[in-house]
Amino acid sequence: MKTIIVLLYLLLLSFSSLNADAHIFVYHRFGDTRHPSTNTSLSELRKEFNYFKKHGYKVIKLEKLVNALKEGRDIPDNWIVLTIDDNFKSFYKKGLPIFKEFGYPFTIFLYLKATEEKYRDYTSFAQLREIAKYGSFEYHSYSHGHMANMSEKQIRADFDKGLAIFQKELGVRPKYFVYPYGEYNELLEKITKEYGFEAVLNQNMGAVSKGTDIFDIDRCALVGKPKLKTYLGFKELHNVEILEPKSYPKNGVLTRVKAKVDKNAKKAFVYIRGHGWRSVKVKDGIIDYKTSKKIRGKRMKIGIQVGMKLKVKVFMGK
Ligand SMILES: [Zn+2]
Repeated sequence: MKTIIVLLYLLLLSFSSLNADAHIFVYHRFGDTRHPSTNTSLSELRKEFNYFKKHGYKVIKLEKLVNALKEGRDIPDNWIVLTIDDNFKSFYKKGLPIFKEFGYPFTIFLYLKATEEKYRDYTSFAQLREIAKYGSFEYHSYSHGHMANMSEKQIRADFDKGLAIFQKELGVRPKYFVYPYGEYNELLEKITKEYGFEAVLNQNMGAVSKGTDIFDIDRCALVGKPKLKTYLGFKELHNVEILEPKSYPKNGVLTRVKAKVDKNAKKAFVYIRGHGWRSVKVKDGIIDYKTSKKIRGKRMKIGIQVGMKLKVKVFMGK
């Protein structure tokens, strides 16, 4: 019942606030039914692109958005950036023609080992050079490993190898980075900056607005039949402070989510990855949600939503 109420609430809000901050979406595979959890059918892709077109959205280059953020400019409500993670062949064969048809720019984050070692589902360097006429390439790692669980030496070796291949094959040095699996921690964030990346994108639901941390830019994944209108209605929740948890729980059970939000907020939603959203009361700007939730896997995501404003944080286990 609670879930239904939350869904209805989200639906209502999505109609009342179609104008929001800019949004970055991430796709993976196209027209590839073997992998439903990372696939976008071609009819769905067309439907989404037609929606953007019909409702006045402007699909812009990632670089334009990052530069606007760097310069501290206001971010227009109708900007959309399209990104694609992993250099799957299905983009080259099936997705690209539709992007070309709409004239939409895109950025592909490359997993270099897959192309270098000619994995079957991945594009070749020759195909990538052809794709480069229509979009841009950025960096997604050499080995696509769980980098938040690698040693400093392993992380640096992965960057060194991948960046050398990137430059050799494509003739440019990437400026932006996306964490494999959206997994990151302080060490990885620090090393990423040392390697000179100008911006880093995650895979957390949310939005982009003036004041967004350019080393932690949110992207919503569009797979299957996504709630596109809801995603487009999200705004970025600034100034939310998660007081608890501070780290991944040692025994893998999350018992409390405490956060500081706007003083005037009366209610909010707490999101726990694997457990969905819960409506919670806000008292004097404080959310204090006591629970007992087993966290599956090493990646714990906690989201706080007030109205349509949202912020998700990732906490990595060892
Ligand atoms: Zn990936």
